Amino acid sequence: MGRVYNFAAGPAVLPEPVLKKAAEEMLDYKGTGMSVMEMSHRSKAFTEIITGAEETLRQIMDIPQNYHVLFLQGGASSQFAMVPLNLLHKTNKADYVNTGAWSKKAIAEAKKYGDISVVASSEDKTFNYIPKLDKSMFNQEADYAYIVTNNTIYGTVYHKLPDVGNVPLVADMSSNFLSQVYDVNNFALMFAGAQKNIGPAGVTVVIIRDDLVGHAKDFTPTMFDYKTHVDGKSLFNTPPCYSIYIAKMVFEWVKDLGGVPAIEKINREKAALLYDFIDNSSLFKGTADRKDRSLMNVTFILPNEELNAKFVEEAGKNGLVTLKGHRSVGGMRASIYNAMPVDGVKKLVEFMKKFEIENK
Ligand SMILES: *Cc1c(COP(=O)(O)O)cnc(C)c1O
Repeated sequence: MGRVYNFAAGPAVLPEPVLKKAAEEMLDYKGTGMSVMEMSHRSKAFTEIITGAEETLRQIMDIPQNYHVLFLQGGASSQFAMVPLNLLHKTNKADYVNTGAWSKKAIAEAKKYGDISVVASSEDKTFNYIPKLDKSMFNQEADYAYIVTNNTIYGTVYHKLPDVGNVPLVADMSSNFLSQVYDVNNFALMFAGAQKNIGPAGVTVVIIRDDLVGHAKDFTPTMFDYKTHVDGKSLFNTPPCYSIYIAKMVFEWVKDLGGVPAIEKINREKAALLYDFIDNSSLFKGTADRKDRSLMNVTFILPNEELNAKFVEEAGKNGLVTLKGHRSVGGMRASIYNAMPVDGVKKLVEFMKKFEIENK
């Protein structure tokens, strides 16, 4: 079988040129006679990889000098604990916006360490929208405010960041990192697990403003203290070397395509292709509120469960795979991350057109 169009929510599609280069370099990385998986994380070759990954990411995101870039393990889910352990240090209070399963998990974790308020929630409508927010809702004394920029399961995104005043803003960007232009200065801390838009699972990118480092609670495990990894330049212990190597090549791929603005333009085109079709269809229906629809995860349903199942199965036979929605919401979800080619989305829309005619 050849390559399929993989619409998985994560781990997800990676850029083909990156996979090809990794294959070429598998047995002998640049004349070292070994794979990146086999070399010391203190070697010259790997030092160039990790510093190169950081440099390229700094370029494509325009990351200011007073922010640190960390490559950590433990997935995005470990950040649910690291954020409160490190950032709750003045009032021990933080405000969270509940927009889905990932924010719920983060809230539950933070509640172990501090006085956590949920300032708004969209749970009343199965998280199919982003709650209306304004500055008055955020406690100006809080140590931080927390949002999930893109809600992977429901297909919603903040098209505009909330005004939280002077409170440090923390964002879980796991499913829309590098998908659109963000000004890093608007955030105190942003993090993303790699397996959606960065590379293979195993590495989590954290971008943290300098003044937030060094205030961890005294019982914080060493590995959960950002300062450990700032001081160790992400090499306090063995990092996820191979994932970082792939991430570096993905960052270079983004840069070569014209950077994040160019990627964002393509992402908007891809999303528009799908949403335009869904909006004009009498069979398919989008499930997220129009004003908050994600560019990365497009959620939709058919009139009944039977048709949903039939669609997923027939699409699979046509090389369009992993379109089943998350088990908690059902229906379908097409994840169209950076590495999904425009052609994949065109093929999906063509298939949906055909399916609509045949199943009306
Ligand atoms: C996938 C995802 C996570 C969880 O990531 P892990 O690396 O598996 O812990 C957290 N937040 C969001 C928004 C996600 O999409």
